[in-house]
Amino acid sequence: MKRAFISLFLLSISSAGAAGTTVLECAMLLDVERGKMLENTQILVEGNQIAAVGKTVEAGENAERISLGTCLPGLMDMHVHLDGQLSRDGYIKRFQNNESDQALLAAHYAAITLQAGFTTVRNPGDSYNVTVALRNAVSQGIAAGPRIFTAAKSLATTGGHADPTNGFRHDLMGDPGPEEGVINGVEDARKAVRQRYKDGADMIKITATGGVLSLAKSGQNPQFTKEELEAVVQTANDYGMHVAAHSHGAEGMKRAVQAGVRSVEHGTFMTEEIMELMKKMGTYYVPTISAGRFVAEKAEEDGYFPAVVRPKAAEVGPKIQDTFAKAYKAGVTIAFGTDAGVSPHGSNALEFVFMVEAGMPELEAIQSATMTAAELLGIQENLGSISEGKLADIIAVRGDPLRDISLLGDVTFVMKDGAVYKRE
Ligand SMILES: [Zn+2]
Repeated sequence: MKRAFISLFLLSISSAGAAGTTVLECAMLLDVERGKMLENTQILVEGNQIAAVGKTVEAGENAERISLGTCLPGLMDMHVHLDGQLSRDGYIKRFQNNESDQALLAAHYAAITLQAGFTTVRNPGDSYNVTVALRNAVSQGIAAGPRIFTAAKSLATTGGHADPTNGFRHDLMGDPGPEEGVINGVEDARKAVRQRYKDGADMIKITATGGVLSLAKSGQNPQFTKEELEAVVQTANDYGMHVAAHSHGAEGMKRAVQAGVRSVEHGTFMTEEIMELMKKMGTYYVPTISAGRFVAEKAEEDGYFPAVVRPKAAEVGPKIQDTFAKAYKAGVTIAFGTDAGVSPHGSNALEFVFMVEAGMPELEAIQSATMTAAELLGIQENLGSISEGKLADIIAVRGDPLRDISLLGDVTFVMKDGAVYKRE
């Protein structure tokens, strides 16, 4: 009885559009590859693929036709944490929530993220591997959410930013090891990466320096040795995974870039030397201005953060947008990322406003969340633009986001893999 109900439910999701033929009639369409806004353009979607794009497309009589404003490729956020949302009582909740609570939260935030027009996300760090299960549920069509690339649990060193027991009293603290994502030395580094592979991770996240929200004094100190970083990157590459390096301070950031990580997250105290090194190594910068602005704002409120966190939030938070401006000017490759979960889920598009505010043209900001993000993930053959043969991840907004970037905060239509998830 139970089984029959589940398969009926699946049927109703998959019949949402992926099986049929749809013609999207776009008043405007942003061609991110050529950097051009096209007028009156049609997209033929067959199954989960874009079959044709043109002034008019040939479709059978049974094709569904949908009139839209400005069509864009589905947006991609390279830094979200779907399994939580920063709050005043966040530190206590770690002792109250079970794995199942975290999993349900993650499903909820995934749905919100998709509704905001983000059809692909990278999740660098979770608890209990919940975003691995969520990724699988989404790809099987049993949960609504973006396509997820997850690191599962972040890797840290003892007392480092992602040591899950920082600040606990001693009998609760224990001594977590590579299985829990805490490493000391090269052997641990290899084992921790292999464990993530076994757990079903798509990528590896390391905390190359201290962080703002952990219950520890420094937000900037280097936390891995050169040898540990090299062991992480080599082993991850052996297993077909890339490495994302959370970094605020310059020394740990530089070591991570030299070791060959794919991306620097936050990058707060990035020096000109590191910018040049990143250009040489082909390292992506994922800025997360949204998180910086959000924690800077909360640092002003009494009692929002524990005492050890508050000064770090006040120092690091306001700096990220300036660093972004400098890195953009220096020509570092930038991939869009918010750190939603610190900043509120669903308001991911605010990052575009902050990027434009800091000097990036609207078109380039959108490219950073489509083409460039797809390249970071190595999926540019299938996603990142509205082109024949690619997967049908398409969103729409009212008006021209190249004139007013804030329009991306009000998405009216979301299609992922040819299925419609939002239609106003
Ligand atoms: Zn993060």
